[in-house]
Amino acid sequence: MTLTEDMENDLFIADILSKSKTIAMVGASQNWKRPSNFVMKYLQKHGYKVIPVNPRNAGEYILGELCYSSLQDIPIKVDMVNIFRGSEYCPSITKEAIKIGVNTIWMQLGINSEAASKLGKKNGKNVIMDKCPKMEHSRLSGALGLAGFNSNLISSKRNVSNSPPLANRNGGVVRSNELETLAIHAGTRPDSAAGSRSMPIYQTTSYVFDDTDHAASLFNLQEPGNIYSRLSNPTISALEQRIAALDNGLGACCASSGHAAQLLALFPLMEPQKKIVASSKLYGGSITQFTKTFKNFSWEADLVDVSNLDAVRLAVKDPKVKVLFAESLANPDGNISDVSALAEIAHEVGIPLVIDNTMATQILCQPGKYGADLIVYSTTKFLSGHGNAIGGAVVDMGNFEWDKGRDFSKLTKPDTSYHDINFYETFGNHAFINYCHACVMRDLGTTMAPLNAYLTLIGLETLPLRMKQHMKNAEIVAKFLIAHPRVSHVSWPGFKENSYNQLAKKYFEDGFGSVFTFSLKEGYDAAVKLVESCNLISHLANVGDTKTLIVHPASTTHRQLNKEQKQKSGISDAMIRLSIGLENHKDIVEDLKGALEI
Ligand SMILES: *Cc1c(COP(=O)(O)O)cnc(C)c1O
Repeated sequence: MTLTEDMENDLFIADILSKSKTIAMVGASQNWKRPSNFVMKYLQKHGYKVIPVNPRNAGEYILGELCYSSLQDIPIKVDMVNIFRGSEYCPSITKEAIKIGVNTIWMQLGINSEAASKLGKKNGKNVIMDKCPKMEHSRLSGALGLAGFNSNLISSKRNVSNSPPLANRNGGVVRSNELETLAIHAGTRPDSAAGSRSMPIYQTTSYVFDDTDHAASLFNLQEPGNIYSRLSNPTISALEQRIAALDNGLGACCASSGHAAQLLALFPLMEPQKKIVASSKLYGGSITQFTKTFKNFSWEADLVDVSNLDAVRLAVKDPKVKVLFAESLANPDGNISDVSALAEIAHEVGIPLVIDNTMATQILCQPGKYGADLIVYSTTKFLSGHGNAIGGAVVDMGNFEWDKGRDFSKLTKPDTSYHDINFYETFGNHAFINYCHACVMRDLGTTMAPLNAYLTLIGLETLPLRMKQHMKNAEIVAKFLIAHPRVSHVSWPGFKENSYNQLAKKYFEDGFGSVFTFSLKEGYDAAVKLVESCNLISHLANVGDTKTLIVHPASTTHRQLNKEQKQKSGISDAMIRLSIGLENHKDIVEDLKGALEI
């Protein structure tokens, strides 16, 4: 584990947060709905003395502290200045801060001033820009910090105190970028109460408040914490952190199913009469959800062939389009999307790219590396991996600027269902995930069950190992099928032609998963008969299980699609879908061989 630049930054910030005792907050507001008031309250609760500075409120009290007109008026020693003013004011505030001898100049989230930074550094001060001390403090306070956020920290030690921030070996916390390590450790550490090494299943609906003030802070979103399990739950938060860590994302929000995760990803972006541009090769259930059910919200879906980049470019031109949606590796026939190209097209018109990465998993492809903004999963499949827990997740890479590009008013305008807070102004790049918990979960209630979160956490521990073996078996079975006289086609991506292999090489260095289709030379009836003649392989509608699974899409998963849609999504009557499991490959081949003889 090397000391990466990110970790250097964490250590720098943690050091500042543990050494600063007295903080002057320039631009502190008396209005409890303003971000500065949120941050002040949080910092007070965690033991800091915060002195408000604001000429409009000089001589009055904010959160019990006397407010001063300027930094020079403060009669005691100040360690750090936290600036809640526009960038243009930062140089003069920095000058004053240097005069009164502070150690750290900290410009709030959304505030950047190179001039102030230069001035501060020239005078030997620590300078931090565009960050929130409240968010950094909660993130660095330990792996069980903020609901849904990737702390980037792992630990085998109990979290005995929530502060001061822990970001170094002595604090019992380390960091890794290795998927095998993250799959086992990210998001969980021995539980602080009992030392349980396995993540407890927090089977509870609600959480006690310390007092009324604590309750109010939680409801106001001033303080991160749990209120009611429809919104957040510690077992689910642990899973959110682990899934986000595997994508190297900012955070994640889990949902009751993959379909719920799709709703969750789209809801903060969409409004009535707005449009989704999506791949015509999506999973059959998603096509029905997008084109039929979402119509009830007056959302329109425009399905395009995403391998035709000009068609995508044309489709997203319509200003009503709010999002571009595709699968990295399509279910079932293994088409690979050119994620970088799609991201560029989406970003040109100011909309986010959402990638369904269910079939690939983070082990084969991390769409965030190629510019995807949001990544959705049906955790039901490979992530949980044992066919025993329905679930879904949305990962936010944290890079999309919601106040630029097309209008995303749910995130950038005052929210009337939340005492008029503006999520993007208050939470910066944490806005999307906070909105998911605070509004989508609150009002749509698509919450994952804690037991399912636990099962998925356990499943994830072996994801890197499982994916390797799934793919080894899949290759052997695909090669057996392509050589069989009754088989006309096998969609295993390893057999596809050259132009396709360029994409495969870029996005799928290590392999293509274990879900593919094959077609018989005969028709519908022969396909049905083959599926029914398997004895080891299970006939059911799922993928990504340890068990090998088989299904006939035309009569099951894609049954609701009309002829044209079936054709567009590449489903034919004689096509059969396989999800190759982890049994010995000889037994899988033997079962198919027997069924092909009947
Ligand atoms: C299964 C699946 C979904 C839907 O997930 P559920 O957990 O079944 O709701 C979405 N996308 C893909 C690619 C899937 O395979």
